[in-house]
Amino acid sequence: MHELSLLKPVVTAVEQACGAEPVQAVRLRVGSLTGAVPEALEGSWPIAVAGTLLEGATLELEWVNAAVWCTLCADCVEIDEYFALACPACGTPTGSIVAGREFEVVWAETKD
Ligand SMILES: [Zn+2]
Repeated sequence: MHELSLLKPVVTAVEQACGAEPVQAVRLRVGSLTGAVPEALEGSWPIAVAGTLLEGATLELEWVNAAVWCTLCADCVEIDEYFALACPACGTPTGSIVAGREFEVVWAETKD
């Protein structure tokens, strides 16, 4: 239940941000390097929000593919999260991850 442990802090953060207002929908930005699986996030969501102000809220996912900065190509290139950190175009190793580690709330909508 990796996803459930990822979602718990999100639920707490949204509850704090929204005060006592019941929440209708939450949009999450998730990078592929988090190791989270969209289906598992959606499956864990009802469990994570049960008994909170977010109970019954819709979860929207915004998926971000991992990307690295390659100095040789002078470009950001998307990588497969299961590959080593190297440019898929020229093979140059790089540790400059520019995207893929996101796990953040884009917005949360309260009921009114
Ligand atoms: Zn390259």
